[in-house]
Amino acid sequence: MTGEMDRKALRDVTYGMYVVTSHSDGKLNGQIANTVIQVCSEPPRIAVSINKNNLTHEYISKSGVFAVSVLDEKTPMPFIGLFGFKSGRDVDKLSQVNYKEGVTGCPCVTDNALSLLEAKVGGSTDTGTHTLFVGDLVGAEVLQQGAPLTYAFYHKKKRGKSPKNAPTYEGPDKPPAEGPQKPSTGAREKPSPREGEKDMKTYVCNVCGYEYDPAVGDPDAGIPAGTAFEKLPADWVCPICGAAKSEFSPKP
Ligand code: FE
Repeated sequence: MTGEMDRKALRDVTYGMYVVTSHSDGKLNGQIANTVIQVCSEPPRIAVSINKNNLTHEYISKSGVFAVSVLDEKTPMPFIGLFGFKSGRDVDKLSQVNYKEGVTGCPCVTDNALSLLEAKVGGSTDTGTHTLFVGDLVGAEVLQQGAPLTYAFYHKKKRGKSPKNAPTYEGPDKPPAEGPQKPSTGAREKPSPREGEKDMKTYVCNVCGYEYDPAVGDPDAGIPAGTAFEKLPADWVCPICGAAKSEFSPKP
């Protein structure tokens, strides 16, 4: 190696997608994390890297326990949005999903989960913006068979973004690793152009960075390709983070 740093090399590191939860003083919270790994087999130990600004960090630090739900590849984006792009300081996330209390007292989220893990923190490392918590496995259960959601699948197939508190965040307005989002061609003809009707613009979610491309629409929500942002139903929400239409701005 030359010693030069091409940070794109980091994009070849693979990850999964997990909900990591904890509790403190009777309160529950959880968040999406891509950095759960098994670090020892005997005794079984797992580690997770959590941003210091996150409420889940505060809870794990206080209680010394955390739970992990290994997510199914079929996990819908609003679920990821709830845990990945909203703060437990603003929303009671656990009130919106199914979970069961584990041996650690942590809420083990069962929605969209293939497996559940629980750990008791035995040590931690300050990594800068994050803390790496290492925990002894104290509970583990397989709920169902399925394909675990990987970070690559989330980015490529689901067109998901990394929030700025993710250890893998690359900064604003960076294209995804493989550029699966085709640029808006603008070539698609509008069904019945009217006088004064604006050209269909791409809109960006101010919360998570998702781009609504009218040439693509939002097929998962039944919005066909060729639907202008202005024509979206008033109750349409960002497919990634669940933000309302009013949270979107035209792409400059
Ligand atoms: Fe969003």
